[in-house]
Amino acid sequence: MEIAIISGKGGTGKSTVCAAFVSVAQSTIAVDCDVDASNLYLIFSPSCDEEYVFVSGNHAVIDSDLCMNCGLCMSYCRFDAISSDNGLIRVSEVACDGCFLCSRICPVKAIKMIPATKSRMFAGTFRYGKMVYGRLAPGEENSGKLVNVLRNKATEYAKNFGYKTVILDGPPGIGCPVISTITGVDKVVIVTEPTISGLLDMERSYECSSKSSGQIYVIVNKYDLNMEITHVIENWCEEQGVPVVALLPYDEHVVDAMVEGMTLVEYNEESNITKLLRNAYNFIMQN
Ligand code: SF4
Ligand code: SF4
Repeated sequence: MEIAIISGKGGTGKSTVCAAFVSVAQSTIAVDCDVDASNLYLIFSPSCDEEYVFVSGNHAVIDSDLCMNCGLCMSYCRFDAISSDNGLIRVSEVACDGCFLCSRICPVKAIKMIPATKSRMFAGTFRYGKMVYGRLAPGEENSGKLVNVLRNKATEYAKNFGYKTVILDGPPGIGCPVISTITGVDKVVIVTEPTISGLLDMERSYECSSKSSGQIYVIVNKYDLNMEITHVIENWCEEQGVPVVALLPYDEHVVDAMVEGMTLVEYNEESNITKLLRNAYNFIMQN
């Protein structure tokens, strides 16, 4: 069973919900698919049993001994990745899109394309099972491809070690890495909050998920901060046939638990918010 936790934007409490679900599940594979800003490892401190280089693409490098400073590459680069610094032609690794154009047009073949190798995939063991996460280096691309690599590793772990549940913490938004996170999963949980942008983002997340995954659920975080919009969210979900599995109140313990490096369930097993999250997880597993 694969369950993906997503949200239309960052800061909705998605990772907090995900970490709590991992605690409730106990024996699981946790996958942090937010490869641009992974944070689950901060709570779970997994061992690093495996580390792989993820080649995210290519970037241009100029051999200054060969370069004759004609400026042709600079004028052709659509990404403004090439500049002249005191007469020395340079490429910005962050800005370079790896399109190969400059390497083809350079009259003296001074530009080489080399693989971008700063991104990583990590896999290890933590207190509830196995954890897989990745880190996309700044400026490197193909985050969706890295998410696919993470999911393949999780599938391999599930098969080899007999885990039945995989919980994926998705990236915010509806871009390529989100599509890679939710495609083919059994269940998607959209975490939202009672604001206009939260409502619109939830609708977009639903549109995106309904095309590529199984049953969809919604959790409204900090629902009590705006009851009016919470009711709008509930009504919208009812119209779409999407179960709202938890209304989580604003709770200062969320920050306290984070500071302690614990999930909400670990921080206080008996708290109201823990009970709500436990019930939500059990409902999702059974329906
Ligand atoms: S096109 Fe080649 S020779 Fe001309 S500035 Fe660029 S790297 Fe140098
Ligand atoms: S590979 Fe493309 S994006 Fe990168 S520096 Fe060359 S022309 Fe610009």
